[in-house]
Amino acid sequence: MFLIVFGAPGVGKGTQAKILSERLNIPHISTGDILRQAVADASELGLKAKKIMDSGELVPDSLMISLIKENFSNPKSAKGFILDGFPRTVAQAASLDNLMNELKMNNVLIIYLTANEDEIVKRLTQRLACSECKSIFSLSEIIEPDVCPNCGALNGLYHRNDDKEDVIRNRIEVFKSATLPVLNYFELNNKKIFEIDGLGAIEDIAVEILDAVEKFAKEKVVT
Ligand code: ADP
Ligand code: ZN
Repeated sequence: MFLIVFGAPGVGKGTQAKILSERLNIPHISTGDILRQAVADASELGLKAKKIMDSGELVPDSLMISLIKENFSNPKSAKGFILDGFPRTVAQAASLDNLMNELKMNNVLIIYLTANEDEIVKRLTQRLACSECKSIFSLSEIIEPDVCPNCGALNGLYHRNDDKEDVIRNRIEVFKSATLPVLNYFELNNKKIFEIDGLGAIEDIAVEILDAVEKFAKEKVVT
């Protein structure tokens, strides 16, 4: 089963992708996490990506596409994965399509998470990430200051550089202009899209997505 979690920044893609990955036992491929790791490692990719990410712009397609190709060559990805943060442009979507066809990765389901813009801005300005386990929290979920509620790491919680209001606004603009057209591309290519409001409770959303995944898997067996 190949899932693509699609939606605006802050809509909950990473949170849901992580849950789905655990429950379906398939890898979570987050291009945002991979890039942030590259920045932390100061690798060649990281050095190229840092400024772009901090301003809320997109890393060039050529770099992203080779990053994905490299990731797909890992045998762990052959049976299924949850892609989070890719494709973000129509060119990325077209390359992904070709690559998946070549690798005979069928059964693609797009999970489209929606949310209104004000809510997204509110969420992102209140968001903290854990540098150890990569979990994401809102300020209200932090019980003890500087302790990750998931893995217990001390002093691992941080505000992402791109979670500042002006950068958030830019990321939303970039989403509307460069990424939203990908939805149209998916539709034109007859991809199956499951749309769901990203503003509900985390567990409710996860359950609805898992139901949709199960139905989709059954349909695929019948046809
Ligand atoms: P969010 O979905 O919350 O905006 P991500 O963690 O997915 O954040 O991505 C953070 C940043 O990494 C993006 O704003 C962008 O600069 C870069 N990035 C991630 N995925 C891609 C991609 N597929 N193409 C181009 N840039 C990307
Ligand atoms: Zn943690």
